[in-house]
Amino acid sequence: MHIVVCIKQTPDSAAKLTVDEAGNVSWGESPIIINPWDEYAVEEALLIKERFGGEPKVTVVSMGPEEALEALKHAIAMGCDEAVRIWDDGFAGSDTLATSYVLAKAIERMGDVDLVLFGKSAIDSQTGQVAVEVARRLGFAPLTYVIKIAELDPEGGAILVERLLEEGRQGVEAPLPAVVGTVKGINEPRYPSFMGIRKATRAEYPVWTAADLGVGPDKVGAAGSGVRWERIFPPPAREGAAEIIQAETVEEAARVLVDKLLAEKVI
Ligand SMILES: Cc1cc2nc3c(=O)[nH]c(=O)nc-3n(C[C@H](O)[C@H](O)[C@H](O)COP(=O)(O)OP(=O)(O)OC[C@H]3O[C@@H](n4cnc5c(N)ncnc54)[C@H](O)[C@@H]3O)c2cc1C
Repeated sequence: MHIVVCIKQTPDSAAKLTVDEAGNVSWGESPIIINPWDEYAVEEALLIKERFGGEPKVTVVSMGPEEALEALKHAIAMGCDEAVRIWDDGFAGSDTLATSYVLAKAIERMGDVDLVLFGKSAIDSQTGQVAVEVARRLGFAPLTYVIKIAELDPEGGAILVERLLEEGRQGVEAPLPAVVGTVKGINEPRYPSFMGIRKATRAEYPVWTAADLGVGPDKVGAAGSGVRWERIFPPPAREGAAEIIQAETVEEAARVLVDKLLAEKVI
């Protein structure tokens, strides 16, 4: 069994995004980390590997410039077997359509993939589109918001998952190969071990380029993207003031709130 985990490098979640008047977006000097949601996908792949006696191969993949290496190293330190970075200067400026095209070409190149795991979304761009787009491009079953992989039968070529819905859980069975988008709560991601960190330092991180994947320039970057950013601007500063009602009890706080809403003729 071969499991691929797609991960993205993102700025630290504590980073502050700024947009200047010219529309230049900056995360400042924020450290680059593995997208926190993707740690759940990595952990799930490792749990499956353990469940099947260590036999499945887990390959972690990231499309990104040099900084993506840090995210890949983190995944290898957690326990993944191999890592591939996908990059070409022509990939810069790709939207999700182009990103999913490149990722799908890389997975196709691997050839023997049974399961592709993703995080819920990336904490920076956060469209939540890439997993389903990759599934669609590969013709794999798209299973999103997965909170539990209940059954996995590589021999029979089937997977049964539980999807997290607002009002409960939905069981979905699908054939393999499949794409699984994980959510927080599916597991508790492990910390990289000391041995894992040493392994990550020594590991090889091959880079697959557009030529390796047979990706033409019309499919990536601005040319391959459907999204055009007409204007990027900082949101206007919020007006008005917020007041936190202080009270001994919830009931008292509610009474104060109602009085204020009545006085303002809101209710
Ligand atoms: C340098 C740079 C320039 C950009 N320029 C543009 C632009 O000009 N126009 C535009 O529309 N967008 C641009 N983007 C944003 C880019 O389109 C998105 O970051 C990318 O397509 C992923 O979308 P998302 O972040 O919403 O991921 P989501 O769909 O929210 O992510 C879902 C999951 O997909 C996986 N995933 C996402 N991205 C990757 C990846 N690169 N490699 C492996 N797995 C991944 C992860 O598992 C993640 O949890 C740029 C991004 C970067 C880094």
